[in-house]
Amino acid sequence: MSAPITFPPSLWAETAPTRMPTVALVGTVETDTVVIGGGFSGLSAALHLSKAGREVTVLEGQAVGWGASGRNNGQVIPTLTAAEPDMWVQRFGETGRKFAQLIGASAGMLFDKIREERIDAEAEQTGWFQPAHSAGRTKLSLNRTKAWQRFGLEVEYLDRAATCDLMGTDHWYGGMLAPSGGHINPLALARGLAGAVERNGGKIFEQTRVDSYTHDGTDWIVKTSNGTVKARALVLATNAYTGELAPRLARRLAQSIVPVLSWQMATEPLSDDLRAGLLKGRQAVSDTRGDLRFFRYDARNRLITGGAILGGGDVRARIARKVAANLADCFPQLAPPTMTHVWSGYLSMNWDRFPRVHQLGPNGWAWIGCNGRGVALGNALGREIARAIDGEDLRDLALPITEPQALPFHPIARRIAPLYLTWLQRKDRIDPKL
Ligand SMILES: Cc1cc2nc3c(=O)[nH]c(=O)nc-3n(C[C@H](O)[C@H](O)[C@H](O)COP(=O)(O)OP(=O)(O)OC[C@H]3O[C@@H](n4cnc5c(N)ncnc54)[C@H](O)[C@@H]3O)c2cc1C
Repeated sequence: MSAPITFPPSLWAETAPTRMPTVALVGTVETDTVVIGGGFSGLSAALHLSKAGREVTVLEGQAVGWGASGRNNGQVIPTLTAAEPDMWVQRFGETGRKFAQLIGASAGMLFDKIREERIDAEAEQTGWFQPAHSAGRTKLSLNRTKAWQRFGLEVEYLDRAATCDLMGTDHWYGGMLAPSGGHINPLALARGLAGAVERNGGKIFEQTRVDSYTHDGTDWIVKTSNGTVKARALVLATNAYTGELAPRLARRLAQSIVPVLSWQMATEPLSDDLRAGLLKGRQAVSDTRGDLRFFRYDARNRLITGGAILGGGDVRARIARKVAANLADCFPQLAPPTMTHVWSGYLSMNWDRFPRVHQLGPNGWAWIGCNGRGVALGNALGREIARAIDGEDLRDLALPITEPQALPFHPIARRIAPLYLTWLQRKDRIDPKL
């Protein structure tokens, strides 16, 4: 077994409510549904199933929220990075329409769930804004706004003056505002969801790595580091970390995506004076660049931001300098800020940036390929997979099922994937005609 992967600790590890670690699984357990992975997707599926009266057992190789769910930027976004809503209908017909509508509803669903379960996740439903970084990109923003409106998402297009007012700078040219979005403390949410699962009778075993799963014709048999679970239904919710803890776990799925390292960081808390003129509505923001500029306030008024970088050396120091310079470029009133926390995590990318839903066998489900938008979507898909396991007709569900396709030359794809950033940066500099 290779050495376990490690990531720098996040700001969220300091600010999320603490959670008592559970025991690891030892021995044999029988349950209705076994969930592999204790992030948003697995916990959301487990919560819906336990609330429906099903016996659920969650197996987490590290700790609840250890994966992307506990180390992301916490932006609750009701759209995807590339796949526009009409493209889902083109690919999957009526199921595609349902899926696009699920994406559009996902942010509102998540905030409702947080309120319903009374989870202390520092949730702020202040909206999500995607400003256009060039005049030419306003056309994309406007088209995207109209497309999502056709799918029932409440979004509006802000012109340049309204964008300057919202952002507190004239760096951007217009953009799409989704009032149902916002931001959360992601590790607090993961831990809160885990608490809700347990309150509803679900069992969680942390430090319990799954090495394999098979279907014996009747049940799923899941082998862990020190035990076995037998279950009628299975949810594989390991996403970008599929194969990272146990290299032989779901190889075709693991090879269908590339885990990409994304860096996150936090500034010192900003003064009241600065905040009065900088993103005063506290929206979550991710702009139209491929080499994305994104940020949101946390509950302590830090700006939580991040980015990606190529090359070696002291990567943490280099990315912190790059992102601080980007912020100062966007907001002249903000001198390049010092970053007090810098951390990273894997997100799962596939070649066309369409998330994938897979049926692994009888009552066996997985989804993979968040492409950086999995906070709201992971929670929504967890619910949808739970509904399938609970016996709802697949035709009524938003599950666009495909067969897993391993990327050709996966090890090479993994090595060269970071170079994609160079292509994105080049694309960012080309301004499409208005
Ligand atoms: C740095 C970063 C920033 C991001 N920012 C945003 C954002 O602002 N907004 C947004 O919408 N999305 C964002 N994302 C994406 C989002 O965080 C993810 O899509 C989402 O958290 C995925 O949740 P998940 O439950 O599917 O997977 P994860 O949270 O990754 O959970 C998978 C779990 O499976 C466990 N596991 C893996 N292998 C095994 C095994 N063999 N046995 C047992 N357990 C195993 C892991 O330990 C892990 O806890 C970001 C991602 C990253 C990395």
